[in-house]
Amino acid sequence: MQQLFRQIPSLDSLLKQPQAVELCQQFAYSTVAEQARLLIEQARRFISQHHSIPHFIADENTFFMMLEEKLQNLSKVKIRTVFNLTGTVLHTNLGRGLWSENAIQAATNAMQNNVALEFDIEEGKRSHRDNYISELVQQITGAEAACVVNNNAAAVLLMLATFAQGKEVIVSRGELVEIGGAFRIPDIMAQAGCKLVEVGTTNRTHLKDYRNAINENTAFLMKVHTSNYHIEGFTSSVSEEELVALGKEFDLPVISDLGSGSLTNMQALNLPAEPMVQQKVATGVSLVSFSGDKLLGGPQAGIIVGSKEMIAQLQQHPLKRVLRCDKVILSALEATLRHYLFPEKLTADLPTLNLLTQSLETLQTKAEKLKEVLGKRLNSNYILQIEPSLAQIGSGALPTERLPSLAITISAEKQSDLLALEKQFKAFENPIIGRFSDKKFWLDLRSVAEFEGLVEMLK
Ligand SMILES: *Cc1c(COP(=O)(O)O)cnc(C)c1O
Repeated sequence: MQQLFRQIPSLDSLLKQPQAVELCQQFAYSTVAEQARLLIEQARRFISQHHSIPHFIADENTFFMMLEEKLQNLSKVKIRTVFNLTGTVLHTNLGRGLWSENAIQAATNAMQNNVALEFDIEEGKRSHRDNYISELVQQITGAEAACVVNNNAAAVLLMLATFAQGKEVIVSRGELVEIGGAFRIPDIMAQAGCKLVEVGTTNRTHLKDYRNAINENTAFLMKVHTSNYHIEGFTSSVSEEELVALGKEFDLPVISDLGSGSLTNMQALNLPAEPMVQQKVATGVSLVSFSGDKLLGGPQAGIIVGSKEMIAQLQQHPLKRVLRCDKVILSALEATLRHYLFPEKLTADLPTLNLLTQSLETLQTKAEKLKEVLGKRLNSNYILQIEPSLAQIGSGALPTERLPSLAITISAEKQSDLLALEKQFKAFENPIIGRFSDKKFWLDLRSVAEFEGLVEMLK
């Protein structure tokens, strides 16, 4: 054994080898030394266990190859590109949507340069970082001003903390939503230090329910868009208009968490209707909040629009500083919003809207192409078909509505073959993510943004 241990070269002598010197130039001396030391430790353990010399000690080239691999692995970003063939276009677990070309350029510019983020160039004095967005939002939605934070969950928290800390907020029992993971209206209320006053029932809430709950401690009336569920049957809810009228009687603001919201008419694009921010603003609601990375098609952000006075109060709350966005996000968001000034080009320019509005003919062409390249790679255990499928927008937007789509379905005699295939798809440099349904593996064409890249990889 001692004999074997002695064959391990010293760390010093290894680091003096030309291969090590080269690695030190490319990476960093201390990291190379540390990783080499770990390999030597590994060799010692191997000798203790197997009473023989590991290959990477017997052969020096192998040692340096392994060392380089470890170093490459350390510098490689682990958040990898995946191909989204789940059929859910805005898949939160897959990072939601892609940015437009202009948004990417604006973001890149902000990354590489100083930008006039809080600086009014003409006046030569300090300005506010949300001003650019505020002006655009005013143009697009008619709201007086805007406040931008990290995401819509943050937007709701900030609105509650600013206007309802230590006070009561009235919400319908039909609207106490939970959005994927930890966002639950009652929990956010508790975090913001306000008291949730539930009114009505799960399926029916009336104006008088709100009226009866109002007291001197009420901060505001709140509407929450039921983004990810739909109550059917004997139902009734109170509209923003009615709440605004009631609020006026008691001098109480009405605040609306719209979730996704949309800045364009989805029905005009042959998509299921989604409430528009403009419409909510027009009802006289004091504040409306929505996400930047749902149907809007931009970066992760939460946008609050509404009255100048209330937005100013939000801006002054200490939490705003905690939740504010950086120059990259604000630049990308501004670029994204600018697309809305050119309505007829929206579906061409915004990747999310582009995917959602693809025609079935376009999907058919893609399906045929994908079937062809996949067919060449899969053995005869697998049967490939093009089948109609139902895609969805995702991220809570319009969950009950499905979008007509096409998918490649893969079936196999043995279920284990299908599981093996799914594993193989996940093992690609850029994993392919599909879904199981009906004992088949489905690759839905509507949600895949980088189709050309997918075809290239499979070739
Ligand atoms: C999605 C959603 C949220 C959370 O928005 P994020 O931008 O994901 O933080 C909050 N409320 C509603 C109603 C939603 O649909």
